[in-house]
Amino acid sequence: MLPGLYVHVPFCARKCPYCDFYSISALDLIPAWLGALEREVGLLAPSFPGPFETLFLGGGSPSLLTADDLGTLFEILGRLPLAPGAEATIEANPEDVTEGKARSWKGVGLSRVSLGVQSFNARWLNDSLSRNHTPADNREAIAAVAAAGLELSLDLIFAHAGQTPQEWAADLDQAAASWASHVSAYVLSPAPGTPLGRALAAGLAPRLPGEEATSELFLLTGEALAMRGFERYEVSNFARGGAVCRHNLKYWRREPYLGLGPSAHSFDGRRRWANQASVRRWAAALGAGRRPLEFMEELSPGQIRLEEIMLGLRLSEGLAAGLVQPSGALDDLIANGLLVSDGPRLRPTPRGLLAADAMARLLA
Ligand code: SF4
Repeated sequence: MLPGLYVHVPFCARKCPYCDFYSISALDLIPAWLGALEREVGLLAPSFPGPFETLFLGGGSPSLLTADDLGTLFEILGRLPLAPGAEATIEANPEDVTEGKARSWKGVGLSRVSLGVQSFNARWLNDSLSRNHTPADNREAIAAVAAAGLELSLDLIFAHAGQTPQEWAADLDQAAASWASHVSAYVLSPAPGTPLGRALAAGLAPRLPGEEATSELFLLTGEALAMRGFERYEVSNFARGGAVCRHNLKYWRREPYLGLGPSAHSFDGRRRWANQASVRRWAAALGAGRRPLEFMEELSPGQIRLEEIMLGLRLSEGLAAGLVQPSGALDDLIANGLLVSDGPRLRPTPRGLLAADAMARLLA
């Protein structure tokens, strides 16, 4: 199986209050980031010759890169060849997308845009998420991606404070009514260290929906998108016409991938490692000819089995039944409609996907 390639573009115009991905707003460091990335590719290309089946430019905000920056990036990545028919995705913020920019993405060989619309309702975009863009920006960006002939995935966030099922259904309707072939729908769950996480803990932000209300919205997501031809293939991911994200499936199926850039993670089937989550430290290590590692670990057989169970329970395709010992807990999950056993595989139902992590703790 061919590996995937991930490149972390660690720049954002400003930090969103709920986000804990590594990014900085010092855009003047983009040339230094490109220079260090070239060194990282030079260091790793002999051991990871490719070809790569997928490329994912994530972040951060890769859509901030100018056409010149992107051209330089693809020259650097030329030493890590993509396989014929590779999926090549760029994450984009709607306010960055113009028709010219989308055409430049197509021109360098990108095939797919993962567009962070988050919501089509100004109340959630502005009051809940403090995002820079508007519903009109969403519509314009979707049209620009269409004009450039790229595949489209839409990212949505739900379970805002006070959000009703009807309001969430209206958001889903707008996403599904577009020509997007892929939707990712995530529960708003700010990490404790983020500004929104701290405000919630201190009672300074409106409380988010509780477990029961969030579960209702989660189940509604699958039902509403199914009516528009989308199949849920992972807890938060839906595709129609088979347009699954081949890159993200590599993470969940434990296939190898190489991550470049600060904070990027990698997996070679046996070991996992992560780069340092700081542009300066990552670049300094590379400048000294060293791998910029935060950690590297070799997985034990027990850890591998645990990962296979945890990740398999997040996928509609489920996991090999042989990974799980017969037990009363397993029988209960099947009897309660959270898992379906079809002989060689155990598959989570929609309610089971909602409880994937809890099921993994019971079965591992
Ligand atoms: S949510 Fe996206 S745009 Fe906002 S800070 Fe995080 S990576 Fe940047």
